[in-house]
Amino acid sequence: MTEQRFTTWFRPIVPREFEEDRVVLEVPNPFFVDWFEEHNLPLLRQAIRESLGWEPAVDFAVKEDYKELFRKGLGRQAAVQSPFATPARAAPANSNLNPRFSFDNFVVGRSNELAHAACQAVAKDPGHVYNPLFIYGGVGLGKTHLMHAVGLAIATGSPSAKVHYVGSETFMNEMIEAIRAGTTMEFRDHYRSLDLLLIDDIQFLSGRGRTEEEFFHTFNSLYDASKQVVVSCDRPPSDLVTLEERLTSRFQCGLVADIHPPDLETRVAILRQRSARDGLSIPDRVIFLLAEQIRANIRELEGALIRLSALASLTGSAITEELARDALRDYMKNLPGAAPDVTTIQRVVSKCFDVTVESLRGKRRTSQVALARQVAMYTTKQLTGLTLVEIGKRFGNRDHSTVIHALNRVGEELKRSESLRATLTRIEEELAAGGIGQRK
Ligand code: ADP
Ligand code: MG
Repeated sequence: MTEQRFTTWFRPIVPREFEEDRVVLEVPNPFFVDWFEEHNLPLLRQAIRESLGWEPAVDFAVKEDYKELFRKGLGRQAAVQSPFATPARAAPANSNLNPRFSFDNFVVGRSNELAHAACQAVAKDPGHVYNPLFIYGGVGLGKTHLMHAVGLAIATGSPSAKVHYVGSETFMNEMIEAIRAGTTMEFRDHYRSLDLLLIDDIQFLSGRGRTEEEFFHTFNSLYDASKQVVVSCDRPPSDLVTLEERLTSRFQCGLVADIHPPDLETRVAILRQRSARDGLSIPDRVIFLLAEQIRANIRELEGALIRLSALASLTGSAITEELARDALRDYMKNLPGAAPDVTTIQRVVSKCFDVTVESLRGKRRTSQVALARQVAMYTTKQLTGLTLVEIGKRFGNRDHSTVIHALNRVGEELKRSESLRATLTRIEEELAAGGIGQRK
């Protein structure tokens, strides 16, 4: 690895405890754990396995003096609730799951309720209701989290169940390694004896002849034995063009559930939950600021929160709106999911309503144009930080009371009209994809 990666991520770690089945590593702060788990833990695990010959669980403990610094930094606010008092729950022994990715920690909203409900049903009655369960959606929307949640629920509920989570790339590497080492029988036995197989990012198997073949047989043998399989993917089964037909048609026999980018309410709820969990006291205005600016996915959202709170604690300042704007300015600019500008919103909305962009800013009042204009104002209010007056200006210099009227009207209409809700979802998705109109 690069010198810099090592210095940032490995040098600060201090080994604290070492037992046969567990090592405890001391890390500088709680945010470190998140990033480390995601980007570096697999490599560290591999190194541990290679040098010990077995694989103990890896737990993290946060350094004592950080807690001091942190409390001082946030002053009275943070003292109320300390995240460090309760150690993270350990993963069940019969699985390789991340205890953070539980159902308890998962916020349900319109964008993910189908997938969430399906996962809960599977967790209650594995192997029967929805088998296989196929979850698909873009990056950072909670697919991996949900899979772990299913696994955790089942592994906790039945400690004798064999539960295994694996990324498709890992699956492939393990298979290649098994072939090289002449241990394909063991490899097969391992996978085919599971009660629950969670296989992530299946798109990586697409076009990988032998691995695909192997997976197909694993899948069949589990399926025939009524063992549950949960698959995730970045696209629906029908779009897995290079994956074998027989495999995609099996996926379609189960339940296919999609996850969409979260709406504003869900983003706010996730930020609230996340900051409560980390013991951060973040004013609502800041929560809304983040939720409005960062829309494409939840990973970015969490990243922003982590960055902000790290900055606040290191500089010893409170988390204010100003700090948030400062801290996130560059970050937001460069994000694909950063708030769209009004022009983009107008363009996307006008396309959906089949009216011209100019008419949104003009005086015409046919009902189609009026509705499109109101929806565009509503969307602008939802997605940008603009004030009512500013929004009015951008829509043909209208008065702010016109904007209020638009917001109310759309709000009312949304309660009644299924089709308007669908249109808004489409607009949001298109904007989340950058407003380029290439989403499926
Ligand atoms: P994906 O696998 O779809 O790329 P992840 O499951 O890795 O996405 O989610 C990215 C991050 O966002 C994780 O830290 C996860 O815990 C968090 N996350 C995603 N969805 C939710 C949710 N609904 N509630 C709380 N946290 C979530
Ligand atoms: Mg994932």
